[in-house]
Amino acid sequence: PVRTRIAPSPTGFLHLGTARTALFSWAYARHFGGQFVLRIEDTDVARSTQDSVEQILASMSWLGLDYDEGPVYQMQRLARYHEVVEQMIAAGTAYRCYCTPAELDEMREAQKARGEKTRYDGRWRPEAGKTLPAIPAGVKPVVRFKNPVDGDVTWHDLVKGPITINNREIDDLIIMRPADAASDADALGVPTYNFAVVVDDWDMAITHVFRGDEHINNTPWQINIFNALGAPLPAFGHIPVILGDDGLKLSKRRGAVSVTAYEENGYLPEAMLNYLSRLGWSHGDDELYSVEQLVSWFDGGHISKSPAQWDPAKLEWVNAHYIKQAPDSRLATLVSAQLARRGLPVPERLEALCALFKDRCSTTVAIADWLAMYVAPVTPSDEDRAAHLTDAIKPAVLALADKLETAAWDKASINAAIKETIAAFGLKMPQLAIPVRVLVCGRTQTPSVDAVLELFDKEILLNRLRSV
Ligand code: GLU
Repeated sequence: PVRTRIAPSPTGFLHLGTARTALFSWAYARHFGGQFVLRIEDTDVARSTQDSVEQILASMSWLGLDYDEGPVYQMQRLARYHEVVEQMIAAGTAYRCYCTPAELDEMREAQKARGEKTRYDGRWRPEAGKTLPAIPAGVKPVVRFKNPVDGDVTWHDLVKGPITINNREIDDLIIMRPADAASDADALGVPTYNFAVVVDDWDMAITHVFRGDEHINNTPWQINIFNALGAPLPAFGHIPVILGDDGLKLSKRRGAVSVTAYEENGYLPEAMLNYLSRLGWSHGDDELYSVEQLVSWFDGGHISKSPAQWDPAKLEWVNAHYIKQAPDSRLATLVSAQLARRGLPVPERLEALCALFKDRCSTTVAIADWLAMYVAPVTPSDEDRAAHLTDAIKPAVLALADKLETAAWDKASINAAIKETIAAFGLKMPQLAIPVRVLVCGRTQTPSVDAVLELFDKEILLNRLRSV
């Protein structure tokens, strides 16, 4: 069966790029009726945090990317990596290297001075008939993979097509480092990324690896390690990066890059999934589609070979589409969370308010912006006051307030009160409606004024009108 995985490092939020890779991996597994695994690559102990793990899990669940296994934590699998390392050493496909950092520096400097590419020179690599250096006292060894010296590594990348790297271009990679000196003597060493990832993908029977193309240079090592272990090779698909509108890699300095930030900024998960899936993948000209459609289409084809461009305006357009479609009860829950975040109470008739404003909003934050006037004071700008609250109009506004005071509180009665007032003062609709909006809403444009007024608390409304 198809088995895919996402393997985030818990050193921060779930990045949009990782979320997209997770989405592709998930959709691929779901398309083929396979399984999707979540693995937490927490071997960078200094930078990994529990907080980050929780953020990642929360974002995965918010997006609805459900996994069949996991989370699996690499740091809970140390004994397994050691077992495999020992087997490799015994089989002669890995060896201990006692070079000190100072020695490695010296090696690199000498290579640079000769104008050579820096690489490990194989001084601890065992070869038939070669005498290895004497083991120095007090040096904790690393373990290196004994990379084949000749031949090519070739794979057919699911995204990039055929790729070939000559083994002469890659050196003997460190696969295990000793536990740091501070930890206790028999603490197990920690595997490096390229080794742990292979043992895991093997043990977890991963058949298709999708990941960012920043890992493409790691793949030849990984393939060699798979082969050294006699493990079946998964297929690899390297997905190009997402670029910001400045053409640089999407990064925190240039706007929100975490899934959490979009959740907080009022985006809906189905909009994020729809938008993320279109970043570097396409199904004809389709722009708006459900996650079920995505799953039915996503067979690993049509992933673009070139970088995708992050387009905030398009994401907003996609989100607006899903906001319009969302049931009012669901929007009500989301908007009340947005209001709570601002310390604002929830207005009565919240669902009706969401229904009234959602068509002109692209996020739940924008809906909350509209709803604030129902639960917090508004301050019309001086320009609006000067332009619209003229002495000539004030008597009409006060007359409307008196009519509304005794009117039944429904849209038809409010509309009738407005119509009677404009007739009595010989006004056109906007001549009264705009001043009313300025006083009650703090702005000149809103949906139809009777619909907006109906949802106000009567007391608050009359006070605002009478403040003219
Ligand atoms: N932990 C790696 C990353 O976050 C995983 C790469 C992979 O999928 O192999 O980039």
